[in-house]
Formats: sequence, C-alpha cells, structure tokens
Amino acid sequence: MFTLYNSLTRQKEEFHSIKPDRVGLYTCGMTVYDYAHIGHGRKYTMDDVLRRTLTFLGYQVTHVQNVTDVGHLVSDADEGGDKMEKGALKAGKTVWEIAEFFTQHFYDSMDRLHILRPTVVCRATDHIQEQIDLIQRLIDNNVAYDTPEAVYFEVSKFLEYGQLFGQKLDEKEIAVREDVITGSYKRNPADFVLWAKRTGHHANHIMHWDSPWGDGFPGWHIECSAMSMKYLGETFDIHTGGEDHLSIHHPNEIAQSQAATGEPLAHYWIHHAFLMVDGQKMSKSLGNFYRVEDVIERGFNPISLRYLYLNSHYRKPLNFTWSGLEAAEKGLYSLLSWMQDVPAEEADEAYTQDSLIHRNNFIQSICDDLNTPKTLAAVWEMVRSDLPRGQKLKLMREFDEVLGFGLDDFRHIVIPEDVKELLDARNEARNSKDYSKSDQLRDQIDQLGYTILDTKEGSILRKKY
Ligand SMILES: [Zn+2]
Repeated sequence: MFTLYNSLTRQKEEFHSIKPDRVGLYTCGMTVYDYAHIGHGRKYTMDDVLRRTLTFLGYQVTHVQNVTDVGHLVSDADEGGDKMEKGALKAGKTVWEIAEFFTQHFYDSMDRLHILRPTVVCRATDHIQEQIDLIQRLIDNNVAYDTPEAVYFEVSKFLEYGQLFGQKLDEKEIAVREDVITGSYKRNPADFVLWAKRTGHHANHIMHWDSPWGDGFPGWHIECSAMSMKYLGETFDIHTGGEDHLSIHHPNEIAQSQAATGEPLAHYWIHHAFLMVDGQKMSKSLGNFYRVEDVIERGFNPISLRYLYLNSHYRKPLNFTWSGLEAAEKGLYSLLSWMQDVPAEEADEAYTQDSLIHRNNFIQSICDDLNTPKTLAAVWEMVRSDLPRGQKLKLMREFDEVLGFGLDDFRHIVIPEDVKELLDARNEARNSKDYSKSDQLRDQIDQLGYTILDTKEGSILRKKY
C-alpha cells in the first residue's frame, strides 16, 4: 500500500491512479529570473523521489513541469512588477536572454543532484494560446470578468475557494488588504488576474501578446492550469509544489481549472516544506543564499546534498548547515564505499529469504508517505547486516532506483594502492599521536586528489569532486 499525505483532505491517503499502471504528475517549476539554490534542490529532489518511487512500484509516470517565464509578479497576489523584467534589468540583459540562461542553470543544477528530467518541460510563453482559450472558457462560464486593466477570476463564484487547503477566505481578504493595494477594478480583493492588460503600471510590459481582451500578458496562475491540462488531461493524479503555494497559487489553480471543466484538477496535492540555512530564511542579504555550485566549490560531492535532503521528511522543515552537510557526506560514503571493490557481476541473481525481509522494510518505509529518513535507516540496517555481499549489492542496486545516489559513481572509484598506503601510514601516525606527521600525510593525499573522511566506520578515502 502506497500512502501520501494529501494537502487537500489534510490526511494520509492510499494512492490509487486514475488509469491502471499510469500516473500523471505535475510539478510547479521555477520562475527563471534568478539562480536556482539549494532550497529548490530540496523541493525537486523530493519530487524526484516521488517519481522514482512510482516508477519502482510499476507505474509509467508522465512528469510535466512548467517554466515560468512571464507573468509572475513580485507579489503572488498580482502586485509589483514582473519578476522576469526585474531580473533582466538587474542583469542588463533581455527577458528572453535571462529566461534562457536561468532555465539552463536550473536544469544543470538539478542534473548534478541526479534529478531526472521531466517527461515534458513547458514554458509559459510557448503556451499563450492555451492560456487564452482557458480564460475564454472561464468568461463563457461566467466566472471571469473583463475590466479596463485586466481580466479577473471572480472567486466568489467558486464556492469552495475560501476553504481550499484549510485556508479561510475572510482571513485571506484581510491579508491581501494589509499587504497590497488591490486592483481598482477588482470586485473582491482575492480576485486574481487571468490576463493583464498593457496599461497603467504594466503599460511598458516587455513581453506581450494580442488577445480577445487586448494587448497584454497572462497572469501567473493560469499557465499551470492550461499546461497541466494540455499534457495530462483535465483531471490527473498528482500535483506538487512548495508550501508557499498553499495560500494563493494552488487555490487559484484549482478554482480556475475546476470552474472551467467542472472536474477536479488533480486527486492528490503534495506540498514540500522549506529549507532554512542556519535557522534562518535563505536570502542574499544575509549571505546564506547557496547554490549547488557553492557546495561543489567547498569540495563536497553534490550527492551528499541529496543524502542530506533524504535524511529529513519532505513535510518537515530542513535546517541546512555546513556541518550537517559534512555529516551527510560521511553518511553517504560510509553507506556506499564498501562497494568500491565489489565487481558488478558479484551481485546475486536471486534473493534469499533474509534479503526479502530487508527489501520489504525498504518498500514499506518509502511507501509510508515517502518517509525517506525511515527508508535510509532500512538501507543502513541492510548494509550493517550479515547478508552476503552479492545479496547486498543486488539490494543496493534496487534501492538506488528510488534513492538516486548513482551507485556506479561510487562503485567505480578504484583508489590507487599508493594512496591507500598513505592512508594506512596516516592512520598509524594518528594512532600514535604523531599529529604533525599525520597532517603531512593528509596533505600528501590531498595533493593526489583524495580527501579523508573519518567516520564511525573508519577512515574512508574519497576522490575529490
Ligand atoms: Zn504552478
């Protein structure tokens, strides 16, 4: 049984796909006006684990992810300038150039974390017609209205709007009023933009298209509904996003989709908790805004970051610290380095009864709402067990389909004999408390391109990343 916590019903539910053996999965992608950071890394790693788990369970997954390259304003509630235009201004480039640059950077970063590329990557600017068509349907259904400044979705026409994900519309209206100046033509402060017109403070908006309501550009929310329905159908299985989407973006997606089709957009809504750095929100002004390349620059294998992510549950906040990453790196290498000298053909053909118990523990843990800390504990238990190496290797290979560490990256590291000898000498010096000699040997090993990780399992050599 595979259970997932559904934010819509606020409980763990048994997963059932709409079509047998197939799953449609949509994940809200990035607004490509800035660099992807390790917070994005966490969210998309956990999406990746979800996708890999579904595949492991025998589903054929169609994974769709959008790229927001227009219409996402500084405030999610339709206020301020377009993030893309602000980003372009800052970089001294065109909006199209920064969209290209940061999309590439995003997927390069995700590749480094072994996050599988989505089946379909769709850009908002490539789907303007689909968004116009959907807005037209909403106008025809009398749930959207045209004004001189924008076409708005009328939230009061969608009865469930105020209660989605446990939110209360009254509170939201007040929040909106306090935070931002509402559009003068809105009938309700929570009404949101479907199509913004090139007028008023958007008079000089750089990206714009013709539409039945005049020259302008789509609001941010409509792209996810238009593109998810195009590639996955009007109702699909799973929709994921960050917990910041619970209050505005996802209620809006649900309202506009369901008001157009009369059917729910997705059956399961999964939300990821945030990553903090040193107990604080990541921000450039605090100097704690890290990208995957910062992790590599400090000499870490980026997969250690993946191990760190998996070590906490996706619905709990994760506090990133450099010492935490160091511990994760040691964990990762201790877990996998025993395979360095095990040839692939040593993996057994069939499982023994004892191995099947470990395999079941693993499956039960990951199927419990993707409980990755419990899953890693099950992997450790297997590695520490007295199963023969051939069984362990066979199990690790299967587990890695879900974990995504990329075992071969660890298996094929053959440490040269002279480096191993230096390590032995260094350990000997350390044991006899000859620290200057031990430091000198460590430096020598370092110069040869290896790092020593001192772990509970002993000293491990790691090829420098
Ligand atoms: Zn979205």
